[in-house]
Amino acid sequence: MSKFDNYKIKYYNINNVSEIKELKNLPENDLESMKIVAKLLPFRVNNFVIENLIDWKKAPNDPIFKMTFPHRGLVRDKHYELLRSSSFNNEILNRIRSELNPHPSGQKSNVPMLEGKEVKGLQHKYDETVLLFPREGQTCHTYCTFCFRWPQFIGDKQLKFETDQTKAIYRYIKNSSQITDILFTGGDPLVMPAKKLRAYIEPFLSADFKHIKTIRIGSKALSYWPFRFISDEDTVALLKLFREVVKSGKHLAFMAHFNHWIELENEFVRKAIKNIQKTGAVIRSQSPILSNINDSSDVWSKMWRTQYQVGIVPYYMFVERDTGADHYFSVPLYKAYSIYCDSVNQLSGLCRTVRGPSMSATPGKLNVEGIKEINDKKVFVLKFLQARQREWVNKLVFAEYDEKATWLNDLRPAFENEFFFEE
Ligand SMILES: *Cc1c(COP(=O)(O)O)cnc(C)c1O
Ligand code: SF4
Repeated sequence: MSKFDNYKIKYYNINNVSEIKELKNLPENDLESMKIVAKLLPFRVNNFVIENLIDWKKAPNDPIFKMTFPHRGLVRDKHYELLRSSSFNNEILNRIRSELNPHPSGQKSNVPMLEGKEVKGLQHKYDETVLLFPREGQTCHTYCTFCFRWPQFIGDKQLKFETDQTKAIYRYIKNSSQITDILFTGGDPLVMPAKKLRAYIEPFLSADFKHIKTIRIGSKALSYWPFRFISDEDTVALLKLFREVVKSGKHLAFMAHFNHWIELENEFVRKAIKNIQKTGAVIRSQSPILSNINDSSDVWSKMWRTQYQVGIVPYYMFVERDTGADHYFSVPLYKAYSIYCDSVNQLSGLCRTVRGPSMSATPGKLNVEGIKEINDKKVFVLKFLQARQREWVNKLVFAEYDEKATWLNDLRPAFENEFFFEE
């Protein structure tokens, strides 16, 4: 027996939230608004987050608390009034949700076609990489209050990208030789039992899929449920699957989602990182930059430094998408850029491979590369890291400098009437 054994997951949602004893010290107001906000946004948190990540002396101002528990600041005043009013009903709820831009950046339009039918459960936006949404992986160990996929977790069937249409998926990928990367995403694919995950991954290791070089798994389990890689019932089977992927000659890229260095400071996550690395998988990290959570270079430099020290490769800093509680989390682009620069400046070259701040928008991934004066005009210099059309990759884009801009929609071309990608 070790200290890692017998830690069993327990979930809390708004129905059993009163069982969380740590909440007893919060003001009455906060508990009431928690219930009101939970009508609108998904809420689920597990015992590990409560017992190991949140510093309850700092709650409700603790960053991990703010990114997992519903709270007043997440909802605009006009919506909050509607949510708490006595005439509140489902129709009002749906209207509020529709006003929160529930499907940003044309995600629905990336679903590929096979023989005249949509291949549900896939998104194929960039030639080399396809996103796969396994049906059983569409929940998470804990929901993040800033998540851009929030509508998936509140039972909005129309908005869900989930599937068990596996035949069509495999046929489509088999016939698409330009695809090199499969990204398993969700939700969190690592809520699935190892057996299920194996059923999804194993076919890609066969000779039909020689063109697939990399299996990526996007997950927040390292941070929110490290026992997945230490002492869960099927941990051994999960790590064995990882080893097999590596042994088959493919790269296993574990895309870890960390938002704050706090998530890296416990012994469990450190042990889990080592266990994953021992399989030959490489862990990369990505996170959005979030107001009220990590909008300072101290947080990012410490997070990246720690990651690089334990062999995690910092990969992306994302700009928070224009959906859900974005008014609470969004950071102006100029500020995100300055935080990126100040953080990277403090780190060794090995860490400066990280890219950002990057917007995953409809035309592609646009990175803020600089702020510059050109012909007496202050501009944002942006660059396509990924693009819907291959010829746009690496192209520069010049937009008028605007301190209020938080997303591509807010930007105007600096020197033309229209951005070239807008036609
Ligand atoms: C970021 C992203 C990818 C992966 O892009 P890489 O630059 O290869 O990591 C794939 N699909 C979508 C929709 C993305 O936003
Ligand atoms: S773990 Fe990822 S998918 Fe799940 S709620 Fe958080 S950000 Fe969203």
